[in-house]
Formats: sequence, structure tokens, C-alpha cells
Amino acid sequence: MEIKANEISALIKEQIKKYQNKVELLDTGTVISVGDGVAMVHGLKNAMLSELVEFNNDVFGMILSLDEDSVGVVIFGDDSTIKEDDIVTRTKRVVEIPVGDDFLGRVVNPLGQPIDNLGPINSIKTRPIERIAPGVITRQSVDTPLQTGIKAIDSMIPIGRGQRELIIGDRQTGKTAIAIDTIINQKNENVNCVYVAIGQKASTVAQVVEKLRVHGALSYTTIVAATASEMAPMQYIAPYSGVTLAEEWMEQGKDVLIVYDDLSKHAVAYRTLSLLLRRSPGREAYPGDVFYLHSRLLERAAKLSKEYGGGSITALPIIETQAGDISAYIPTNVISITDGQIFLQSDLFAAGQRPAIDTGLSVSRVGSAAQIKAIKQVSGTIKIELANYRELQAFAQFGSDLDKTTKDVLDHGAKVYELLKQNQYESMDVYDQVIQLFTAKHRFIKKIELDKIQDYEKSLISYMHTNHQDLIDDMKENKKITVDTENKLKEIINKFTNDYIE
Ligand code: ATP
Ligand code: MG
Repeated sequence: MEIKANEISALIKEQIKKYQNKVELLDTGTVISVGDGVAMVHGLKNAMLSELVEFNNDVFGMILSLDEDSVGVVIFGDDSTIKEDDIVTRTKRVVEIPVGDDFLGRVVNPLGQPIDNLGPINSIKTRPIERIAPGVITRQSVDTPLQTGIKAIDSMIPIGRGQRELIIGDRQTGKTAIAIDTIINQKNENVNCVYVAIGQKASTVAQVVEKLRVHGALSYTTIVAATASEMAPMQYIAPYSGVTLAEEWMEQGKDVLIVYDDLSKHAVAYRTLSLLLRRSPGREAYPGDVFYLHSRLLERAAKLSKEYGGGSITALPIIETQAGDISAYIPTNVISITDGQIFLQSDLFAAGQRPAIDTGLSVSRVGSAAQIKAIKQVSGTIKIELANYRELQAFAQFGSDLDKTTKDVLDHGAKVYELLKQNQYESMDVYDQVIQLFTAKHRFIKKIELDKIQDYEKSLISYMHTNHQDLIDDMKENKKITVDTENKLKEIINKFTNDYIE
């Protein structure tokens, strides 16, 4: 068979055309399929993970998976305008959000766009939302307390600046309440706060914003909200956006507190995306890298050393359990990543012990290094006393002849639990906490009826502020209770207690 010269040139021309097409596929691609906020795209051969891509109608997306001949893109915004065969273009930039002080007092979506009708945010500086966490060399050990203003936490499960402390419990056990109270307690502490709401009802988020405003905490707080009505991609990037805002402040040398409310819903959003991207499901249908998802997020909490500005990010992730099961997949993951957990029990909550903190299962693995001396002096034995109390409580049910020691332990334990009850939005200065815990340590509460404890402690605090402010100032100055102050406190409180019971 004879081959004609012009046929050969036609073939070659055809090949060249196709070759050029292939070159174009490096930076552009075409949509193969789209739905549920996720698009599979052919082409984009040079794309990077987490890169921002643009669809031809001004909708943006982020690359979440790189396969051999396609990439998976999660879409930020309305996916109904995107069709098969649409062109997708690389931006060659990892997803970024604007950052800076203009965000304080604002409510934004995970792309940093305001959603509070207070006008545009004029921040020019941007940062990528995915970033490698600060390395070992840049860090310093945790040495400054982050006061929550909650007696049970500051005394027994203290949190230090730069620490990651998990708040874990069933539905409606007061998890959000602890986080919000902690934010409110930072009012005069020069700590910027970020509250990330993931998959919550818009009305719940609105309530949180309102509460922060009423308690004067909005001015130093940013709320990043991806509500339940938002598509999974927005919920997925929300915590990364939040920590990006926090990092900007940390690098300026500031202390930042960030709350992720909650990471269970974040994991669910990621599972949804992964299943849509056809990744193989693992335990509880979560993809295999769900641990990495949360560890790379929480590693970004840090306490930087002096040379690097000395800033910090303290993280309070929240996890919701089902029927108290802390051994499920996501809870065990996050427990192992964090530096301790505050475990909330629904039966304690129902019994009126609020905050419903399980003092046996809750720990803080680094915070006590950062606790101020004064509170250490009065709270050292509380955890053990409460453990003894719970152990003996079983016997107490039999009621009958208990020896005096057992009776004492039971009586004291019940009263300490009563003392630790604290209402929402009633955060307490740490030196007021010291005075109240002082009455437990030196057994002044022994003389007080159980149902009078709360009233007694409140009266004592106002009495001390009116008549003995100098002693409180003395503790503040020394950060500890000197022998002299201790003796004076004993004398004063003894007299106050005797007057109280009369
Ligand atoms: P969800 O699982 O729905 O997110 P949650 O665990 O975050 O719930 P919260 O919303 O913080 O729980 O609290 C549940 C309810 O308990 C709220 O009505 C709140 O006002 C109340 N509450 C929380 N803490 C306290 C407290 N210390 N004293 C009194 N009431 C409280
Ligand atoms: Mg909540």
C-alpha cells in the first residue's frame, strides 16, 4: 500500500493539534461530573493540592484530591451553575483568606467574607489557609495560664496558653457554654478570640454572637461560621480559616484563643466530601486520613518562644459523643492529639451539677505547669478528695452506721461539689476562686449547711472585697499566698464563718 505525502502531513498536523491540546491541559481542565458541591475535573495536570481553581462563571473551588487522570475539586458557592464540559482554570495559588485586626468584632464565612451586614472588611493582607505548623525550634513550653473563669477548670484542669484542651460530651451538656464563658473571661487579658462554628444552626450562632456582644466580648472576637445549611466544602475549610486568622495575630506576638465548635461535624463534612470523591471508606465510613485532618489543624496551636515574638494560640476543640462513648473513632483520635480533655456528663448535668465536669475522667496534661501558685496552694488535694468521695458514695446509699471518717469524707465531698457549681456567664476572677477554695481546703465549709454553701461563698467574696481588698491585692502582687496572708485569711474567714452561721 502506498502512502501519499499529503496524507502524512495531514496526520502530522492532526497530531500537532492534539499535542497543543495536551499542553493546555496542564493549566486548564474540563468538568467531567458535578454535584453535591464536588466536581471531578479532567486535565489540570500541574495542579497542587489545596490550590484555588476558577470555573468559567466566577465560582471558585479547591483541589482536594489528585488522581492519575482527574482531580477532585470542592466548590465554594453555588454548584448549580456549573455544567459538564465547563472549563476550569488554575490560579496557581493555594486557597487564601484575608487576615488582620479588621476582623475583630465581625462574623465572617470561611472565605473571610463578612456575613453580619456591617459592611465590607478592608483587609489587604492574605494568608494561605493550609500551612505547616510551627516547628519545634520556634516553640517554647507552656508557662502562662489561660484563665477560664470557671472554678472547676481553673482549679483542677488548668489550661495554659498554647495548649490544646478538648471539650467533650454528649448533646446539651454545656460544651459551648464552657467555651463562650472562657472567651468572655478574656476581657481584660489582652487575648484575641476566634470562635469557629461548624454545622450549627444559624439561629444558634446568632445567639452566641448576641451573648458575646452583651458581655462585651465581641470587640476582641471573630466568629467564623459555616452553618448547617452551608455545603460540606465550606464546613470543611472553616477551622483552617479560623486558625489562619489566629496565626496572623500569634505571629505579631499576641495571645489568641480559638474554639472549634465542633470537630465531630467537621469530620462528618470531610467524610461526605471524601465519599463524593470516591475515596474508599474506612472505620465508621470515615476516610483513612481523618486523623491527619485534625492533627494538622491542632498542631497549629502553639506557644512561640521569645525570639519568635512569644505569641500563642490556645485551642479548645469540641467533640460531641453519642451516649458518653469516648471510645468511638473521632473522639479517640482527638483525645490522642490534644493535651487533655474536659469531659462533660449528661447525668451530672441532669442532676444539677453544672458545669457537668466529670472530675475523674478530665485531665490537663500541661496546664498545671502554667497555673499560678496561689491556686495550686488551695487546690492541690481537691481532685483526690473528690475521688475518695465518689468511691465512698456507693456505701452512702446504705445509709446505716458509717464511721466518722467516712461521714467526713462524704460531707466534705458533697460540699466541694456544691462549691464548684457555677452558672453560665458568671465567670470568676482567679483570686476570688482562691478565696473560695481556701474555705474548702481549711474546712470552713464544714460548719455550713450544704444548701447554704453557694450563698456563703458569694457573701464571703463581697465581704472580702469590701473589707479586705488589701489581702487580695497582696495575693495578686505575689501571685501566691504568703504565710502572713494565709494567717490573716484564716483569722478573717473564721470570724466571717462564725458570724454567718449565727
Ligand atoms: P449542643 O450539643 O446542642 O451543642 P452543648 O453541649 O453545647 O449543646 P450548651 O448549649 O452549652 O450545650 O448548653 C446546654 C444548655 O444548658 C443551655 O441551655 C445552657 O444555657 C445550659 N447551661 C450550660 N451550662 C450551664 C451552667 N453552668 N449553668 C446553667 N445552665 C447551663
Ligand atoms: Mg454546643
